[in-house]
Amino acid sequence: MPQKSDALVMEEPGELAVRQLDVPDLEPKDILVKVELSGICGSDVHMYEGGMDLEFPVVPGHEFAGVIEDVGSDVETDSRGSPVEPGDKVTVVPGVVCNECWYCNNVPTRPTTCKNRDVYGFMSTEYRQGIHGGFSEYMIADGRSSFYKLPDDMDVELGALVEPLSVATRAFERAYSPGIPDAREGIGVGKSVAIQGAGPVGLLAMSAAQAAGAGQVIAVDAIEERLSLAEDFGATHLVDITDFDGDDDLIRGVKELTPGNVGPDAVIEAAGIPDAFRQGIELPRDGGTLVEVGHYAYSGETEVNPTRVVQKDLDIRGSLAYPPNQFETSISLLDQLKDEIPFDTLFNYKVGFDDAESAYEKQKSGEAYRATIHPSGV
Ligand SMILES: [Zn+2]
Ligand SMILES: [Zn+2]
Repeated sequence: MPQKSDALVMEEPGELAVRQLDVPDLEPKDILVKVELSGICGSDVHMYEGGMDLEFPVVPGHEFAGVIEDVGSDVETDSRGSPVEPGDKVTVVPGVVCNECWYCNNVPTRPTTCKNRDVYGFMSTEYRQGIHGGFSEYMIADGRSSFYKLPDDMDVELGALVEPLSVATRAFERAYSPGIPDAREGIGVGKSVAIQGAGPVGLLAMSAAQAAGAGQVIAVDAIEERLSLAEDFGATHLVDITDFDGDDDLIRGVKELTPGNVGPDAVIEAAGIPDAFRQGIELPRDGGTLVEVGHYAYSGETEVNPTRVVQKDLDIRGSLAYPPNQFETSISLLDQLKDEIPFDTLFNYKVGFDDAESAYEKQKSGEAYRATIHPSGV
């Protein structure tokens, strides 16, 4: 077992340094992962800019995949029950709950409500075993973690999409309930879904909608390049916001694409722009659903008219991360669609530790869909 691990540590917001951290002995239920790559997402940029109240130094990286280097004496299977051994490709659920608080005891299906939740990639190097993040040659997933083996024939890099894909598939599934699609309650096969924002989460939500049998997948964005990628990710209709003259015109344009011109059955707001939420209240048909997933990090406010929510008898649902077994859904979706959808095109800026700053910049500017850090080099 390795004794040391090179890690890209954020000493303070915006300050990155390569440090050598100790690899501690494994507890019986721990696994040690040799990280292949780790994505930079919006929340990482937020941390980089000082928007998060964390205890630094932090080993960032919560969207990662790699190969099992070693397992503790009690580890026989992954969280799905598949046997695991060193050498297997793996991805780890970053969120870890306490199993003790009121929420863990009373609402276990919503683990993000846990009041003592830890998330790998946001933890101090001083905390527990130290190497709890993906920007590290080796990372330890401790015994409370859920982790999933990737199919043997899946490129390990796709494993780094399982986390954002889980954000997307859960947001999509939030639109299902109460789930009698024939009675136009919830959504199902053949129904119409619009997705605002063709960034990584939006694109992945489109692939989820396609896999789930949506009849229409309407992509709404203002950037032409993203809209053309949306087509590859399952969008059946593309709406370029810049072709329309204000909210009313845009809303009319989207509704005209749907049967009866009433609007989509469900709308997923994945743009993370406050105005998109305001539009998102108007876009679905009456009695439809709006899922808000885009505003994970604060990006401003918007004015809404609550009367419209009542008048439309609208269901609005927030979607924060996902329960651990959402990873099963996402791995199976990747496996099912990996030959059809060019998932790997999202990784359009790959760097080693040395160029990490530029990767944050590219992710922030939107030039990178998912910039990735490769601890052992590109
Ligand atoms: Zn993320
Ligand atoms: Zn808890």
